[in-house]
Formats: sequence, structure tokens, C-alpha cells
Amino acid sequence: MEIDGNALAGDLAEVFAVEMTAARFTCAGCRHADAIATLRVWTPVPGAVARCPNCGDVVLSLVRTPTRVFLTLTGTARLEMPV
Ligand SMILES: [Zn+2]
Repeated sequence: MEIDGNALAGDLAEVFAVEMTAARFTCAGCRHADAIATLRVWTPVPGAVARCPNCGDVVLSLVRTPTRVFLTLTGTARLEMPV
């Protein structure tokens, strides 16, 4: 059965309410895995761009406007978060 993304609301709210610097990423480019806190971050560009400390690929970017946050995870193969 296919349902829409509203079914994920509860789980996503819990996941993104955790302390994200304690989360671990896996780089989509080189598969390096480490804590978010180890990413190499450049700001403002107009938001933050976080690069893998191993290969330099962009792992994630975050742009904040007055009304929205745009989080791009294209370079992230996986996020692992404590709950
Ligand atoms: Zn990498």
C-alpha cells in the first residue's frame, strides 16, 4: 500500500529533535563515516556548506530564510542518530 509522506511526520519529528552534532554521517562520495561535528563547514554562502573531512565532497548544506530552512543531503549516504 502506498501512502503519502504525512505518515512519516511522527518519526521525522522525533529524529530531527535529537542533538544533531551527535549524529553520524556516511559520505556518499567516499563512504567515510564520522560525527556531524567533524564536518568542515563554510558559512555564509548564503547558508552553511558542510564538506567531508576525508574527501572534501559536500555532505550537506543548510540555508535558512526568515520563514524556512532548506536542508540538502545529496552528499549523505546515511545519517545515524541516537534516539
Ligand atoms: Zn567523503
